[in-house]
Amino acid sequence: CGIVGYIGEADVKEILLKGLEKLEYRGYDSAGIAVLNDEGVVVFKEKGRIADLRDVVDEDVDARLGIGHTRWATHGVPNQLNAHPHQSTTKRFTLVHNGVIENYHLMKKAYLSNVEMASDTDTEVIVQLIEKFSQDGLSTIDALRKTLHLIHGSYALALLDKEDAETIYVAKNKSPLLVGLGDGFNVVASDAMAMLQVTEQYVELHDQEIVIVHKDSVEIQKLDGSIVERPAYKAELDM
Ligand code: GLU
Repeated sequence: CGIVGYIGEADVKEILLKGLEKLEYRGYDSAGIAVLNDEGVVVFKEKGRIADLRDVVDEDVDARLGIGHTRWATHGVPNQLNAHPHQSTTKRFTLVHNGVIENYHLMKKAYLSNVEMASDTDTEVIVQLIEKFSQDGLSTIDALRKTLHLIHGSYALALLDKEDAETIYVAKNKSPLLVGLGDGFNVVASDAMAMLQVTEQYVELHDQEIVIVHKDSVEIQKLDGSIVERPAYKAELDM
């Protein structure tokens, strides 16, 4: 179980796959990546090893931002359909998530009775709620915020909005997540080890924080929208 993300100037596929390989030792049953470019979001996911994921990633897809995931299944068997990233019905939103949403059943009943779910995961509820609140007229950040107020449980998550190729949204509660700072790029990782390949500078996140990650800036907010300032630290391999 791990998360990676990158936004910058480099071709993102290789950075994400390398990052996921660094997280392999933690154990997982499936893995996936999503990348966003002018043509939209492309998702690759597979049951099994990162090597199996590599086999299905199309070399020709060129993109500058993306997110990746290794899954340790809690809700829904390990298979290709339940592997992350998950997408909302219109495919506008794409999400990876580590953790457990305890009230996903209730959320489904209360808000998503008309939505046909594509997977058996608790995670899909998050991305479908964001889509629903966005269709109700909320901006993406407000739809995310509203969703986080409603769900209970643990999460480290990263979100792509097809309409916005400048941003990765991340949030955390009771599951590990860091933001890494680069020169002209920024990254997201559940463990600094995954992204030491590109940067050593990390900012720690606290529970119930949202981060708006652009390639040249990182803004940490509390759930109420207030801004958090926190210095970066230098991560080193403790091996
Ligand atoms: N609960 C989610 C699932 O089963 C995420 C599991 C994880 O942390 O990898 O898909």
